[in-house]
Amino acid sequence: MFDESKYYLGKLCVRGHDYAGTGMSLRKVRDNECGKCCCARAKIYYEKHREKISAKKSAFCKKHRARLNEYAREYYRDHHGERLKYVNNYRAKHLEEYRASAQRCRERYPERYKILNKKNSKKACVTLSGNYVKGILNRITGLRFEDIPPELIEFKRAHLKLTRLLRKEGYNG
Ligand SMILES: [Zn+2]
Repeated sequence: MFDESKYYLGKLCVRGHDYAGTGMSLRKVRDNECGKCCCARAKIYYEKHREKISAKKSAFCKKHRARLNEYAREYYRDHHGERLKYVNNYRAKHLEEYRASAQRCRERYPERYKILNKKNSKKACVTLSGNYVKGILNRITGLRFEDIPPELIEFKRAHLKLTRLLRKEGYNG
């Protein structure tokens, strides 16, 4: 479905952009233009003026860097709770899938997983301090160090350990 405050179903446009087989076009409330036509037009314009647009964009960013940084910090501060909730929910929802995929991988490449015995595991663990793993997770998820759930750290640490060991044993990919 579409946002009824922004779009409505109107007469089929000249290019025949049909909305979900209704024989009608999704038109913008603001100016009655067909949404698909508008997108196509914007795309053509962008392709034609690509360099000019990107130069303008980077000039704007340069000029307002301090303000943009401030805005990003504010946004992070105001939304990091939601984000944390989202990441946790996603993980909880897909935990079984993660596990099943790991299991499939173990069955498919048993010789690789044999390398991950206790002795090797200890060796590989030495440099994988909590902060190191947290740093990586921070870059991936954007979560603050203190917000990263411990189970996610364990998960990532095990994953890193395995890739390192495999590399050491000459496996690539
Ligand atoms: Zn159209």
